[in-house]
Amino acid sequence: MSETIFSKIIRREIPADIVYEDEHVLAFRDIAPKAPVHVLFIPKTPIATLDDAGPEHAELLGRLMLAAAAYARAQGFAEDGYRVVMNCNGDGGQTVFHIHLHLLAGRALSWPPG
Ligand code: AMP
Repeated sequence: MSETIFSKIIRREIPADIVYEDEHVLAFRDIAPKAPVHVLFIPKTPIATLDDAGPEHAELLGRLMLAAAAYARAQGFAEDGYRVVMNCNGDGGQTVFHIHLHLLAGRALSWPPG
């Protein structure tokens, strides 16, 4: 896959407001937040889209979810609630082709999304 801006964030070549990091996952604030809390959780190993993920990525995808949940608990908004979203390809609204989980919180989120 071709590189995206998220690889540059992983390599610290461009700045980002990083809020969490471990061996496999990096999380940073979205540059155009859609809620008071809007954090992106990305794997350090790039996968372009969810459609490109296979069984070999099951653990990594789980790590993204669990990292987001742990962050929500640690920041104290898990009980109030939050949403995690992964957009896939054009109709899903994906614009950066390095898989990422959006964590949105800090206000009541409407459903269904637009
Ligand atoms: P998606 O539309 O699901 O692919 O989400 C891509 C997200 O990345 C959008 O919410 C953008 O605002 C966000 N984004 C793009 N560039 C950056 C950046 N340099 N730092 C932080 N977030 C970014």
